[in-house]
Amino acid sequence: MTVLWTSLFFVYGLVFGSFFNVVGLRVPKKQSIASPPSHCTACDRRLGMLDLVPVFSYLYLRGKCRGCGTKISAIYPFMEWVTGVLFGLSYYLLGFSEELIIALLFMSMLVIITVSDLAYMLIPNKVLLPFAMMLGVLRLFIPLAPWWDAFLGAAVGFCVLFLIMELSKGGMGGGDVKLFFVLGLVLGTKQVLLTLFLASVIGSIVGILFLKKTKQGRKTPIPFGPSIALAAVLSYFWGADFVSWYSSLFF
Ligand SMILES: [Zn+2]
Repeated sequence: MTVLWTSLFFVYGLVFGSFFNVVGLRVPKKQSIASPPSHCTACDRRLGMLDLVPVFSYLYLRGKCRGCGTKISAIYPFMEWVTGVLFGLSYYLLGFSEELIIALLFMSMLVIITVSDLAYMLIPNKVLLPFAMMLGVLRLFIPLAPWWDAFLGAAVGFCVLFLIMELSKGGMGGGDVKLFFVLGLVLGTKQVLLTLFLASVIGSIVGILFLKKTKQGRKTPIPFGPSIALAAVLSYFWGADFVSWYSSLFF
């Protein structure tokens, strides 16, 4: 049964991931999510059923628009697949529990902000605010232990990132600071700090790989959001184990 449900959540994730691509690309540009219907940005060709099957359309069409042959970025099917994996993983690790609601919302938010940050170097308030409200309220009914840890985590996440932003003068955006507030709500104090640590490690690795690619060594800013999102996922699912293992080394 677990396999069946996990696969079903994976498929839900593929479908939602396709929607999150649209949200992540349109919300920062103040476009409606519903209209116009999905179309090729190069030739305006409206996408039919065959173009809209997550991941498979991309593979079937070999990453090109059926109308004009313009290449479609592999980011979109990749993010659909990632959403599928995250939804499947959420169910696999949490089962039908109350926490599953938080997990699915949290994964959704992380996918949307990753799409926005990759496309525009921006984590939109219009995405963070509704998720912050939903997750904040849910954490009252589906609490961490102790219950106030979610709110302490939010405050700590926000304050630490705000301090880093002030000290680094432009190394970190306001979107990252607000994102850490929401991460704190979901993760609590210890794990929001773990997320910051992991995000710095992942961000450094991404930075090294990216700088190697552009040989000129130009200083092109790299969005930090995707590294934070990956760190948050690791911390959400396995952070508690990591924190207790790490503490056991010293105490
Ligand atoms: Zn086209």
